[in-house]
Amino acid sequence: MGLVSSTPMLMEARKNGYAVVAFNVHTIEMMQAVVDAAEELQAPLILQTTVGTVKHLGMDYITAAAKVAAAQASIPIALHLDHCQDFELIAQCMRSGYTSVMIDASMHPFAENVKRTRKVVELASALGVNVEAELGKVGGVEDDIVVDEADALLADPAECELFIELTGVSTLAPAIGTAHGIYKGEPNIDFTRIAEIAGKVEVPLVLHGGSGIPAAQVQRSVSLGMAKMNVATELKNAFSESIKQSFIDHPSELDPRKYMVPAKEAVKKLAMEKIQLCGSAGKANAVQTR
Ligand SMILES: [Zn+2]
Repeated sequence: MGLVSSTPMLMEARKNGYAVVAFNVHTIEMMQAVVDAAEELQAPLILQTTVGTVKHLGMDYITAAAKVAAAQASIPIALHLDHCQDFELIAQCMRSGYTSVMIDASMHPFAENVKRTRKVVELASALGVNVEAELGKVGGVEDDIVVDEADALLADPAECELFIELTGVSTLAPAIGTAHGIYKGEPNIDFTRIAEIAGKVEVPLVLHGGSGIPAAQVQRSVSLGMAKMNVATELKNAFSESIKQSFIDHPSELDPRKYMVPAKEAVKKLAMEKIQLCGSAGKANAVQTR
């Protein structure tokens, strides 16, 4: 099948208490490895790229490769644009074939966030594309977006409800204490807040900063309503550490087709662990894609 919108897979996940994992990929090999992982576990999958990766690979290369992956796979695959602040780029990605986008206007005041998100929702709904928006501010570093821990702001449950009503957004990323990058200590997740938000809004919720959250905390977040978990840093690190080790072990080996083999394996292994942790293994068939 072709790339599908992430809406049905996320609705199904929210309804049944598991989460679809969205993997940030930066190379074709990383994309192939996470597709292999999801295929083997029969899990619905979200391939995700940041704006930096769109600039690095080119959006048409990304959509072409993701379409090939979706055509060859037996599982539903969505292609998502992560943390984008630029309406024009979002529109271009949708036209290029992205089936899911995130408008991140969380750095603006509430009313401006609503306005910018609504504009994207209007265009996306005509195209059947899922829209994710953020409320509050997730701390840490994602591409060029740097949010100091002190400036990280948790989402207000009442505002979440109003935000959904005013924007019609299909997926919400409320800041609840996670951060981008690798945690120095344990993340300080506000579980009460997740439960309160989930009690007020029916849309799937997104857990950003999924790298390095202890398994029990991921499972608790998912059981409370987090229906999508983003994994970026850990995946990138697994890929790069493997390549680094290959060069240490075989300094004269210069063939990418050799050192990419263990790198892909490392990515696949980690992806399978995350899918199992989030409970989406075996759920590929539960998603209505037609
Ligand atoms: Zn994020």
